[in-house]
Amino acid sequence: MNALKQEIAATIAHDGPMSLERYMSLCLGHPRYGYYMTRDPFGPGGDFVTAPEISQMFGELVGVWTSEAWRACGSPAPARLIELGPGRGTLMSDVLRVSRISPDFLEAISVHLVETSPALRLVQEETLANAAKPARWSTDLAQTPHGPAFILANELFDALPVRHFVKTIQGWRERLVGLNVTGELVFGLSDQVEPSLTAPAREGSIIEVNAVAQRLMSEIAARLVREGGAILIIDYGYLETSLGDSLQAVSRHEYVDPLAAPGEADLTAHVDFAALARAARAQGAKVMGPVTQAHFLLQLGIERRAQSLMKKATPEQSQEIIDAFDRLVGTQDPRRHMGALFKVMAVTHPDMPDMPGFIV
Ligand code: SAH
Repeated sequence: MNALKQEIAATIAHDGPMSLERYMSLCLGHPRYGYYMTRDPFGPGGDFVTAPEISQMFGELVGVWTSEAWRACGSPAPARLIELGPGRGTLMSDVLRVSRISPDFLEAISVHLVETSPALRLVQEETLANAAKPARWSTDLAQTPHGPAFILANELFDALPVRHFVKTIQGWRERLVGLNVTGELVFGLSDQVEPSLTAPAREGSIIEVNAVAQRLMSEIAARLVREGGAILIIDYGYLETSLGDSLQAVSRHEYVDPLAAPGEADLTAHVDFAALARAARAQGAKVMGPVTQAHFLLQLGIERRAQSLMKKATPEQSQEIIDAFDRLVGTQDPRRHMGALFKVMAVTHPDMPDMPGFIV
């Protein structure tokens, strides 16, 4: 039994079963043993690969979109370029490099990274050591300075903890993590029925509630309405709120049991984009999309970008560019292709004109 499992088991023995939300946030964010706190999980030797790590084309197109969004807001200065959950810092590095073609944008912005993991912050500092603009770090969006904000969040929302409710004869009851007779972690159900959930559903159905993500979305949308700007959210998820459990644990590119080794596997849930859009609109913000990642990147010209990179490439590099293009915008195999599974949604100040990438 690893140290985090022992700690969680002791907490449950003392306080009773805990919500999935609490369990997930301990697995990912426990200051000592949390998944992101101790390691760099990205890349072929790690647990999963993200779009910015696949190809520079991703970050370059996101960068072009961001400077265009800034221009569409009337080129405010000063403005903030903020990334939430920057991983290795690769996306921000590509965004800042491509922004050299928009010197007025670079001049106007200050760069802020919001990261809870000390280990990843060190990696980000190294990646951005020679960037066109110095970055500042914080652990919370609320600590970034005021002003119009252009915010990026790639694969951040899927890492926010969710709650599950299971339909029983008595009503919806919360799924909890408890202990069995041999002291192993097991899923169980709360004794109490959740009075706020009344949706009709077959017994055994599961509702996943991403209250943490919705709160964060509300906070960001309120800020964008007040101070101007936009957030670009890219993540895997579904377009309509639906029943079902999307919790998954991934270790070394394989699915594993989420209760087996807490803190050692990446725990995520699909993002409920419809719920985020409702939270944003409730604050008066404008919502663009969600569209698929394939739609977004193709509309921003990823094909032309790939062709222009290939002009200067060796045959091996050309093959790498073709493979990366296929992974980013391909749609057939959800285990390999990100084009359909991943969605892109922008939330902006209500006066923002419709932006490229989202035109359908
Ligand atoms: N955007 C990166 C990394 C995605 S993984 C990429 O695409 O490669 C999730 C990232 O979010 C990690 O950097 C993790 O440490 C960070 N993170 C997780 N929870 C967070 C939170 N509540 N606030 C800020 N960052 C968080």
